[in-house]
Amino acid sequence: MTAARSFADPDGGPAITLDHHGADVAAMELAAISVLQSVPAEVWDGTPPVPINWIVKELYGLHVMNHGDIASVVGVKLDEGKTMSGLLLPDRGVILVDEGELAKWPNRKRFTMAHELAHWILHRDAPPSKETPRATIISSDGVRNDDPLPLAEAEANAFAAALLLPAALFRPAFAACDGDFPTLIDEFASTNAALERRSKTLGVGAANSA
Ligand SMILES: [Zn+2]
Repeated sequence: MTAARSFADPDGGPAITLDHHGADVAAMELAAISVLQSVPAEVWDGTPPVPINWIVKELYGLHVMNHGDIASVVGVKLDEGKTMSGLLLPDRGVILVDEGELAKWPNRKRFTMAHELAHWILHRDAPPSKETPRATIISSDGVRNDDPLPLAEAEANAFAAALLLPAALFRPAFAACDGDFPTLIDEFASTNAALERRSKTLGVGAANSA
């Protein structure tokens, strides 16, 4: 009855196809598009924001729990000012989300869930690396630590960005508001940092970010 929706990038793909950590950004875009296209039209009409809660909980059957000290779960001691945003416990199908970040940046929980979903979809059959927590570590001011990331972490970040800010929705929305970040933050329930990275990846708003 209804035509299959397409979330293919109207411009053919991202401006950056391989990030500086070695992640195949173009492949992550396709993986995210495939997830979006599997959300039934009855559940989501295809307009932003992307229903990440439904995708994680209903489509993949994962449980999401807020947690006050994720690092302690994996026995990691973090440097002062660092925090662990999230953690996938693949054996239990559970995603832990850091409570402190949730309080400070509510929309960041969406990114954390999408990031951990990437580990579930892409990496859960990989040999477990118990010493290396599979989570994003950012500093307390929300600025991402730009140290080289393990490949799985970079892939999860690229997947999460493509899932929550799909090129098919983001490009026209960006053009419609002339790259106004407050408008886009509302529309996509995003964080400012995610928008900045996504704009660069897709190569939109170069004039604004110069
Ligand atoms: Zn991770």
